[in-house]
Amino acid sequence: MKDLVEIEELIRVVSKFPGLGPKSAKRIILKLINNKEELMKPTINVLANVYKNISRCNYCGILKSSRDGCNGYSSCKNLQTKFSKICVVENIADQWSIENTRIFSGYFHILGGTISGSAPKNNELLINSLVERVKKQKIEEVIIATSATVEGQTTAFYIEDSLKNTKTKISKLAQGLPVGGEIENLDDGTLHSAFKNRA
Ligand SMILES: [Zn+2]
Repeated sequence: MKDLVEIEELIRVVSKFPGLGPKSAKRIILKLINNKEELMKPTINVLANVYKNISRCNYCGILKSSRDGCNGYSSCKNLQTKFSKICVVENIADQWSIENTRIFSGYFHILGGTISGSAPKNNELLINSLVERVKKQKIEEVIIATSATVEGQTTAFYIEDSLKNTKTKISKLAQGLPVGGEIENLDDGTLHSAFKNRA
């Protein structure tokens, strides 16, 4: 691959993927090059599709296709009457973990991170829109499923406080979680019982 700038650039990019170093990046790239039509071409196409059509809703935080449109309350509210519960998580990986357990049916609200003591950026987290949603969608229960870390619990506390005037039932998973546990790293069984025993 000496002097092949294109390949070197590709290795640099692919090496940044989680769980991959330069060595596995090279293996993936070789596989692509050796299967240009069957693998490289479809990869390019699906990536381009995701790039073009998929983005995070800036109101509820979930991943949405541009075909569905989920930008702001006017389109999120179409779901209004379907569920009475919202599960609040830090990130999309957490949503996927909880969906995997099939224990929850309701809306997800993805904050996009946690409040950290050193760098409070509450404005970037979708907490204001959560409060608005709870009020406007007549939500009966908000399940706060933030991690059992200091940041996760600080965030949970802040959300609870923000919702105190809504009279909505608020429950938390934390009691059933191992200390320091991040939702996305929990096994299905632990997550399942934490959900069932939420308080
Ligand atoms: Zn939305």
